[in-house]
Amino acid sequence: MVDAGATQVRPPVVAIDGPAGSGKSTVAQEVARRTGLQFISSGAMYRAVALQALRCGVAATDRTHLIDLAASLSFEFFTDEHSVVHVVVDGEDVTAALRDPAVGQIASVVATIPELRAHLVAKQQAYGERGGVIMEGRDIQTVVFPDADIKIFLLASDEERARRRWRELVEQGERIDFSTVLHEVRERDQRDTEREASPLLAAPDAVIVDTDGRTVDEVVTCVHRLVDTWRQHPTLHGDALARTAGCDLTKQSSSRIGKGGRTV
Ligand code: C5P
Repeated sequence: MVDAGATQVRPPVVAIDGPAGSGKSTVAQEVARRTGLQFISSGAMYRAVALQALRCGVAATDRTHLIDLAASLSFEFFTDEHSVVHVVVDGEDVTAALRDPAVGQIASVVATIPELRAHLVAKQQAYGERGGVIMEGRDIQTVVFPDADIKIFLLASDEERARRRWRELVEQGERIDFSTVLHEVRERDQRDTEREASPLLAAPDAVIVDTDGRTVDEVVTCVHRLVDTWRQHPTLHGDALARTAGCDLTKQSSSRIGKGGRTV
């Protein structure tokens, strides 16, 4: 049954959070392609600040310069004819440069600065003003869009997440040990979950999706189903939305504790 007035509902804001390597970006991009929502990577924005800092020789400890950098950068996201999402910062396509693991590590350091976060959060919120976006990150369902229509928290064990990252890096031609990647994933988890400013958390009304041992297509199908179900029943959230969508990857909110995913 369709909720009364469902057809008048504006396109949703979908907020996806989860620890490093939980598949947020891959899943959100494919769901965006299938649903017509605009994909925005908030992590790319923190990475862009890190990249510019590296290029300009701004130290990760130089808070004032880093905050100014975050305030001044302009961002654009577009999808090319091969469905690849590009990130354009101050007019330059930096998609490839942002994937450098060193940039990711520095991003998680600069992301601990509250004033810097405030600038990027304001830019992220502007994308959601008219709905129709799917944004992924660490604080999207708790800070950026606390009233998001659909909140999703992706979980996976640290070993599984490190395996995914390691495979990705090897495919890109990097020579790196699995144990190094696992160490980096755990280090990043610790920084992201223990920092004072907007730590990674699962919101109480988030749908928890356990991706361990699942293919990308299984996770995408589940999230896509949640979006379609919400479009039919826009009053449903959290566990009620998950139940109605009938996707077997979702967990009850009472069982939501996982590595890198504390509860609020
Ligand atoms: O998701 P991604 O790996 O691209 O993010 C890079 C880093 O940026 C994360 O490790 C995290 O420290 C930071 N980040 C954040 N809040 C977000 C998105 C990313 O703190 N919303």
